[in-house]
Amino acid sequence: MSWFKRDKSDDDKLQPVGDAERKVRTEGLWQKCEGCRQIIWKKDLEANWQVCPKCGSHSRIDACTRLRLLLDDADYTTYDAGLRSSDPLSFIDSKPYGERLRAMQQQTNLSDAMISAAGRLSGRPVQICAMEPRFIGGSMGSVVGEMIMRAIERAIAKSQPLIIVSASGGARMQEGAVSLMQMAKISAGLMRLDEARLPYISVLTDPTTGGVTASYAMLGDLNVAEPGALIGFAGPRVIEQTIRQKLPEGFQRSEFLLQHGMLDAVVSRLELKQYIGTALKFFVG
Ligand SMILES: [Zn+2]
Repeated sequence: MSWFKRDKSDDDKLQPVGDAERKVRTEGLWQKCEGCRQIIWKKDLEANWQVCPKCGSHSRIDACTRLRLLLDDADYTTYDAGLRSSDPLSFIDSKPYGERLRAMQQQTNLSDAMISAAGRLSGRPVQICAMEPRFIGGSMGSVVGEMIMRAIERAIAKSQPLIIVSASGGARMQEGAVSLMQMAKISAGLMRLDEARLPYISVLTDPTTGGVTASYAMLGDLNVAEPGALIGFAGPRVIEQTIRQKLPEGFQRSEFLLQHGMLDAVVSRLELKQYIGTALKFFVG
């Protein structure tokens, strides 16, 4: 039984939303920064990759913008955009999973919560997977698992480094145990990448939680997070309710995790590309 299906004819239709289209959808010229509560001109935020020019707070960006941030130019190839979940459990919550998927695919122009691409970062060819937080909370199901697995296989075949940018609420509950199995599948794949002596850099962004943290997000040769990102297994509210204790200030934020040895670095989005470029130079030479 297959957990995903491939519709070749849909490959062309599933291109990421372009800049022009995104701007038309954007309403209003001003936005309130969640960090400093100041009103910022949206154009200033956009020009600064959604990092507040006043306080440095990082707002979320979509997978398409993430690729623009990290890759040298728009001349990258996307892969596996025709993979679709086959809804193995015929799951229904507030609405059928199949319906939810179709709505998300229309809204984001993506087939699932990830863009898998190959391009150049500071001149070096890389395989890169960027998660899309808007697609059912960036949750990881069979398609995300298969996309990462294929990116690993391409990285090994072409002897290229792998970068995965996580932005995820965790495993996709609508796919039940199938989504949890992706954790083992990807972890085994990353082991093969390691045996091929190819570097894997994990970039953790807001939010990286659940099964994604419990597998590939924390398995990088280098685990790098953006400032202020929520990173954890269960959310802080769930933990507080369970242990009936107040959690320490900044618990499960990047800086706290770095301080406690869970991360290798916290790097501003504005310096992220340069940082990864230098790291790859160190790993590969
Ligand atoms: Zn701010």
